[in-house]
Amino acid sequence: MTPAQVLANKNLVINGGCRVIKQEIAEDTGIVADAFGDVASVVKTKHTQYWGGGPKAHELERGFAAYVGKQYAFFHNSGTAALQTALFASGVGDGDAVAISSSGFIASLNVIYHLRCRPVFLPTDPKTMVVRQDVSQYVKGLHLKSAIITHFFGNVVDLSSTCEQMEGALIIEDGGQAHGAFYEGRPVGSFGDIGSFACSNKKLVTAGQGGLNVTDDPHLIEMMRVYAHHGKDRHGVETVPGYNFRGGEMEAVLAIHALRDLAKRVNARNKVAKIFHKRFKESGINFAVPFDGVDCSPAWFDIPVILSDAWVGYRDDLIKALIMEGVPAWKYDPLICAPWVRPYMISHGWWDDASETMMRSEKSLWDRTFVIGTQFTADEADVLAQRIVDVLNAQ
Ligand SMILES: *Cc1c(COP(=O)(O)O)cnc(C)c1O
Repeated sequence: MTPAQVLANKNLVINGGCRVIKQEIAEDTGIVADAFGDVASVVKTKHTQYWGGGPKAHELERGFAAYVGKQYAFFHNSGTAALQTALFASGVGDGDAVAISSSGFIASLNVIYHLRCRPVFLPTDPKTMVVRQDVSQYVKGLHLKSAIITHFFGNVVDLSSTCEQMEGALIIEDGGQAHGAFYEGRPVGSFGDIGSFACSNKKLVTAGQGGLNVTDDPHLIEMMRVYAHHGKDRHGVETVPGYNFRGGEMEAVLAIHALRDLAKRVNARNKVAKIFHKRFKESGINFAVPFDGVDCSPAWFDIPVILSDAWVGYRDDLIKALIMEGVPAWKYDPLICAPWVRPYMISHGWWDDASETMMRSEKSLWDRTFVIGTQFTADEADVLAQRIVDVLNAQ
């Protein structure tokens, strides 16, 4: 089916057709509603936040560090704050080169900008939709200080391969969509110097608002706590220009409840992923898969559907059509294509022909990709998968 045939289908709501999906289907936020009693108990104490983090934040930190198999964890007020704290703790200075997977969430790029660093983009592997295994040509001679590598969509980066080429840079794994995923038998986030995890809505360890960093390095965790407490060290001296980035007690309670159910949550999402994958495979629809021959198990957060080249220029119309059908489809842009990136890098003399080439090739891949979430019931997933398949077959 050509995009024109698919989009001209008279059965589509956008063309005046009758909606096939009768119910309203939305992704679950993942907030554990049963936590309300424990949240109320926190409110009754009248202490919903503490300097240095309160008892609930510390309970969460202990639990999460143990889960990832790291010594320390620190609970922040957002995933973005956690990433910025991680990058700061890595010791970056003005203009330092920081490698970043172009396949990732915009927050990981924003923190590089806010710490006045130079992003060094790593391209996307078109089968897995995470960073490529072979990236050495993109980092050569740039003296990387750090690297932020994202396990996007809950799929798992081939860490040994990609990180080995980072020339000794401090590795920050962004596992914001991949809590509960494994690489070579270990939880993601345990491989890098720092594992960074968002706890916002729909994330597998949901706090509504929050973020968690893990590390084994006492110096790194100390720098994180200082940075996230207005830059004040343990003696109260403002040693660095910091932020108020610490997480609150009510949010910590929500995350503790979500963490308790993590294995169950991952199973449910992977079960939904399986439903989508099976239906798409039967219909010849291409979707992101794990790396061949790499020992890993994803925790699918979204299913990226990768369309043929013909869809470049039509993908957004397809998403509009799907949303009108009651299918909450969405898209991500590659980070190198964020509109402010090119001018920012040009103004610093960091943009060259290779950047231009990468921007174009990333765009041509991501412009024919849409995503569908996994935070649905199995029944909802059945209905959604069926409708996506039918729409793409012009039915
Ligand atoms: C959500 C997310 C973040 C940012 O988290 P916030 O809590 O929204 O600030 C960072 N990285 C990834 C991969 C994410 O999915």
